[in-house]
Amino acid sequence: MNKIPVTIATKNAHKAKEIARILPDCYELHTMLEHPEIPDPVEDGRTFAANAAIKAETVSARVPGLVIADDSGLCVDLLNGAPGIMSARFAGTHGEDEENNRKLLRELAALPGQAPYTARYACAISLAENGKEIASFYGTVEGQITLSPAGTEGFGYDPLFIPDGFSCTMAQLTPAQKDSISHRARALDQLRAYLQDK
Ligand code: IMP
Repeated sequence: MNKIPVTIATKNAHKAKEIARILPDCYELHTMLEHPEIPDPVEDGRTFAANAAIKAETVSARVPGLVIADDSGLCVDLLNGAPGIMSARFAGTHGEDEENNRKLLRELAALPGQAPYTARYACAISLAENGKEIASFYGTVEGQITLSPAGTEGFGYDPLFIPDGFSCTMAQLTPAQKDSISHRARALDQLRAYLQDK
């Protein structure tokens, strides 16, 4: 059977790997690492969904076939939803996970006595073709932030995030456990169902 080509509008290898684990085998996945000629879209939307649409539409105007984009992040209630859409660049430089984590720990440590630090991961997935979004999906997972980072799996804020129903961090879960509850898997499950019915 010929696989259906799908481009993931990301250079983030961790995201691409998780998406590849979750989507069925019938898709031939490509990423922006194969398209150095396409500049990174400017993510100036005010929501995860808006930024996902910007990324998917910008890339699909230049790449044939289906394009999916993931815009995701961590929202901490005590910080009024920060880092939120700024998750990747919370400490200033895009994609500096360790610095972002240190900044989050500093901000929460400055607010003692207010634990549990409830939080959620959110993921918006946009599906686009010919430069236009054709569908969008959203998933979340609730949990809380620990001030004692643990674990080496996953990426980003995973060593700091304890999902509800677990007593360890997301970075201590196996990839299969993460995929059974993650914000990304929940959004991608809806995408799978949409593509199956299409
Ligand atoms: P984006 O590339 O603008 O969507 O930003 C995504 C950022 O959100 C990542 O760089 C991480 O900081 C954070 N993030 C999103 N999903 C996850 C996850 O599954 N685990 C840990 N951090 C995540």
